[in-house]
Amino acid sequence: MIHYRTESEIELLRESALLVGKTLGEVGKHIRPGVRTIELDRIAEEFIRDNGAVPVFKGYEGFPGSLCISVNEQVVHGIPGDYELREGDVVSIDCGTLLNGYVGDSAYTFTVGEVSEEVRLLLERTKESLYKGIEQAVAGNRVGDIGHAVQSFVEQYGYGVVRELVGHGVGRKMHEDPQVPNYGNKGSGVRLSEGMVLAIEPMITLGKKDIVMERDGWTITTKDRKPAAHFEHDVVVRQGRAEILSSFEWAEESEINK
Ligand code: MG
Ligand code: MG
Repeated sequence: MIHYRTESEIELLRESALLVGKTLGEVGKHIRPGVRTIELDRIAEEFIRDNGAVPVFKGYEGFPGSLCISVNEQVVHGIPGDYELREGDVVSIDCGTLLNGYVGDSAYTFTVGEVSEEVRLLLERTKESLYKGIEQAVAGNRVGDIGHAVQSFVEQYGYGVVRELVGHGVGRKMHEDPQVPNYGNKGSGVRLSEGMVLAIEPMITLGKKDIVMERDGWTITTKDRKPAAHFEHDVVVRQGRAEILSSFEWAEESEINK
């Protein structure tokens, strides 16, 4: 069932999404060689709770962390743990909050120190593909227009688009209808209408698009062990132009200030 949110609900979704954005910034400040991913998780959980919200990933189908932290060839759903970040790593931080009954869900891929040029470009282009997708999230278009925009943008560089994991509606629950694939055909799929709120989240690989699940039952890794990138925004479908509820402002600031 697809929900169409009122303006007052959208304001609550915005507050939750902005808290996620601020949390990504807090985490970003602490990303450096030698930090353990579990430490980043603790920083996020404390910040979220101090702001009157709940980390929505924690306990979700048994997930142990407040963040999904996915390093290098890990695409998404990495479990925070004892791994120490190293110079040259890329690390996707996916965060979700429940604030006043509404979910925010946003992800940003950070770099640890200097990364290779090909990896830097993968991140830059994955982020750009997210905005290409968002441009299509306007009333009257279809879900396939979003996926087509993401896919056609990244495939020109030879990157892979993960098929098994997709974006989604977001509202009172983290995963609502419709599904929002990062691939597809123009003019196909569910019609987009004003007030739909979507989490759009390209998961893009430097090599082939194939993934495997690790033995921990959560972590999704590229089959060829090449790096992946992941960026996610929460977006309201509007007439003419989509409205982004989440923000990378704080995450980007944390990177510039290093
Ligand atoms: Mg997410
Ligand atoms: Mg999501």
